Amino acid sequence: MSNIRILTEKCTGCGLCLSACPYGCIKIENKKAQILENCNLCGACVDSCKFGAIEITTDKGLENEIDINEYKDVWVFAEQREGKIASVTFELLGAAKKLAQDLGQSLCAVLLGDGVDSQANTLIEYGADVVYLVDNPKLRNYNDEIYTNVFTDLINEYKPNIVLMGATTYGRSLAPRVSSRLNTGLTADCTALEIHPKDNILMQTRPAFSGNLMATIICPDHRPQMATVRPKVMKPLDKDSNRQGKIICPKITVEDSLMTKVIETVKEAKEGVNLTEADIIVSGGRGLGDPKHFKLIEELAKVLGGAVGASRAAVDAGWISYSHQVGQTGKTVSPKIYIACGISGAIQHLAGMSSSDIIIAINKNPDAPIFKAATYGIVGDLHQIIPLLVSEFKKALA
Ligand SMILES: Cc1cc2nc3c(=O)[nH]c(=O)nc-3n(C[C@H](O)[C@H](O)[C@H](O)COP(=O)(O)OP(=O)(O)OC[C@H]3O[C@@H](n4cnc5c(N)ncnc54)[C@H](O)[C@@H]3O)c2cc1C
Repeated sequence: MSNIRILTEKCTGCGLCLSACPYGCIKIENKKAQILENCNLCGACVDSCKFGAIEITTDKGLENEIDINEYKDVWVFAEQREGKIASVTFELLGAAKKLAQDLGQSLCAVLLGDGVDSQANTLIEYGADVVYLVDNPKLRNYNDEIYTNVFTDLINEYKPNIVLMGATTYGRSLAPRVSSRLNTGLTADCTALEIHPKDNILMQTRPAFSGNLMATIICPDHRPQMATVRPKVMKPLDKDSNRQGKIICPKITVEDSLMTKVIETVKEAKEGVNLTEADIIVSGGRGLGDPKHFKLIEELAKVLGGAVGASRAAVDAGWISYSHQVGQTGKTVSPKIYIACGISGAIQHLAGMSSSDIIIAINKNPDAPIFKAATYGIVGDLHQIIPLLVSEFKKALA
């Protein structure tokens, strides 16, 4: 566990740390710096202080000594819903195969669920050398507590070097719980993974500061090295029905959850395409002018076989539910085609969709920032343009 403190006898209240802190977690009071509660120990202030007046200490006594050489293999969490493997799992297996080959280690999938044993072979067909299968009625529905307990037990027993999960609702919930239990690092939302050619360490790259720079993060002293990876970024391997692998069923005790019970699973989207998995997304913003005009977005999405997205302004106005929000505080998407209709292109929106292969913007303001990110721009009134596109696509796709 790490702590930060100001050495008041050395602090001059110069304020250098104040401007160095990217998170606004320092204040100066009575000519002395004070660290605020939301400090995340990034260390920027320590480097900025000319007087050595800020110190981050690590309580070694609380840390488990580990021998990192004991940790081997690359693990992928095989996310499934109702027994169907999520496509991000196959993407992760594709990316992890290269990591495992570079390390000369095995690629393993971890499959937790109820009645999912038939899926183990599918994971082998998509690249897994080994599948750890825990098939138990208590794992039927995703449950933070039960899944965290089982996954942590498996890691403690088999000691993987690298653990990857999809940056999905489940992965984003499970990965931090597991990493904090194991006192290891986690890089969320990675878009690239590579093994360092000399150190054999996992280099985990992700967009930082709303996508304005790419940060490469390493976890040199703790194991496993953990990352969540954005869906649709990595490429799956081709299915190979002749691949052979090993299925291991570890003897793990699956305890009931003490805190959470899943009573019912309600599917919000009764039809349509899942936003994070869609190849085409049509998104609407405040420029629609009225909630009823989301019909236009739905029509265009339907004719293209795509999903419906939205800006936060549209969600905040109550025009569409939060599950459709794309951006920094919504979903991160990476489709082949993203069509932004009546969306200005605020940095927080771009943070969630700028890695799309092709961005098409429809906006009546030629100076809207979205056009800077767009591959193709259509300047005009969406109420005229979208119906034209729908009718032309209908003709072309008939
Ligand atoms: C901490 C934080 C987190 C945030 N997270 C997110 C997030 O996750 N996702 C997100 O989207 N935003 C997020 N925001 C909000 C973001 O800053 C913007 O306010 C929001 O994206 C604006 O939505 P918009 O583009 O739909 O609306 P506006 O900015 O109002 O843009 C509407 C656009 O529609 C155009 N328009 C108007 N009428 C027409 C027409 N008839 N035809 C064509 N074009 C038309 C206008 O020219 C304008 O460009 C966040 C903000 C903060 C501070």
